[in-house]
Amino acid sequence: MDELIKCSVSKKCGGCRYIGTEYDKQLLEKEQYVRKLLHDYGRVSKIVGMKEPLYYRNKVHHAFAYDRKKGIISGCYEANTHKVVDITKCLIEDEKCQEIIETVKKLCVSFKIKTYDEDTGYGLLRHVLVRRGFTTGEIMVALITGYPVFPGKNNFVKALLKAHPEITTVILNINDKKTSMVLGDRETVLYGPGFIKDKLSGLTFRISSKSFYQVNPVQTEVLYSIAISFAGLSGKETVIDAYCGIGTIGLFASAKAAKVIGIELNPDAVRDAIMNSKENGIKNARFYKGDAGDFVVKMAEDGEKCDVVFMDPPRTGSTEKFMSVCVTLSPEKIVYVSCGPDTLSRDLKYLTSHGYEVKKIQPVDMFPFTEHVETVVLLVRKTPDAYVRIKMDMEDFDLTKPETKATYEEIKAYILEQYGVKVSSLYIAQVKEKLGIKERENYNFPKDADAKQPQCPKDKERLIVEALKHFKMI
Ligand code: SAH
Repeated sequence: MDELIKCSVSKKCGGCRYIGTEYDKQLLEKEQYVRKLLHDYGRVSKIVGMKEPLYYRNKVHHAFAYDRKKGIISGCYEANTHKVVDITKCLIEDEKCQEIIETVKKLCVSFKIKTYDEDTGYGLLRHVLVRRGFTTGEIMVALITGYPVFPGKNNFVKALLKAHPEITTVILNINDKKTSMVLGDRETVLYGPGFIKDKLSGLTFRISSKSFYQVNPVQTEVLYSIAISFAGLSGKETVIDAYCGIGTIGLFASAKAAKVIGIELNPDAVRDAIMNSKENGIKNARFYKGDAGDFVVKMAEDGEKCDVVFMDPPRTGSTEKFMSVCVTLSPEKIVYVSCGPDTLSRDLKYLTSHGYEVKKIQPVDMFPFTEHVETVVLLVRKTPDAYVRIKMDMEDFDLTKPETKATYEEIKAYILEQYGVKVSSLYIAQVKEKLGIKERENYNFPKDADAKQPQCPKDKERLIVEALKHFKMI
């Protein structure tokens, strides 16, 4: 795609930093950005871009406002303001969703629906959110109002469906708070089931208005397949899907794992995840509502184990609480999916200084034309083999080396100083063995198990025990 894309509102909208930049160049810049932030951790692979990077967003949200000259307008807010930028055509949003928003604008005029004024609290319609399942074609329209009453709502919905019979559900969401959040807490379904479904790589997903669902479904399949392949599942693993949203990553992993545990804060998303596992006949996945950090603390307290952790936190990244417990659960692999390279870099710093090493870094362009970039990182637990091997090698060394002897010598010196009694290394070794403190094989013990050797007398044993306590060895 070589033609340079232009947009008349890009300056005011501010969403597409790369408008007017060739796509290949965008990709290169994003890749370099990820490399700049993450090169200390490992080699950054070539970014995976899109074949057709236009109209990819399956979710379109417009704020509604009234302009004295133009009448009803809709679009995003101008940076750092609550002034609505009039957008009638966007190059990255799904065209069908945009068409529906244009229709809503016209219907507002014919139904005399006023747009909500944030300053005065006057008027009704605040936002419209349209979501389309690219594979199923199902479409959700959420009308977000400042008040719970919507005069003539049934006729309004009828007219909307007449213009767009492809709409499968319409929701009325009430947001009467002074907030930058789009959706309020109260919701009624005006038409259809209240959610849409979409399919990704053969699995069906139910998506509610408030649930997170990746906005670029084409690249989502690419992203998830990279994440799953990084995990290298064999079918035996217990897998955590932290920050699971509607369960997508975990459900993809479930076919290749023994057990999947998903954890998510948003109750609607958890409900969707549970329904999604049922809908897809998946029996080895469980989803829980809660904070990911609290959840792993509980897992660790219950002595539960896991082999692979997928973590896909919001742009703000994960928390030290989550990561610190995650490393004590000691999964063999952590697959970190991130939409914020800077918070990813911060979190990798933590994970790599707590027993994990980065093996792969794969940027994926989920958001062409915008400055955003997604990255999948594979972290692997540093093998305890290295540690064991060193210990074993030590056994081949001369055990009278100063640092090996020191412990015994310190114990002897301590007992001599405290009690004026001499004890032998053999006696110390015998007491340690009796207490279950692992001794290196052959240390001071005769090669032949039956060989006669002096046994540590009881009074010396007591002193050795005291010394071991003093050195906090028991
Ligand atoms: N993995 C999912 C969702 C990723 S978005 C997907 O690919 O679709 C990040 C998710 O983290 C959101 O669903 C958000 O609700 C959830 N979240 C945010 N903070 C959280 C926390 N402290 N604990 C658990 N989930 C959280």
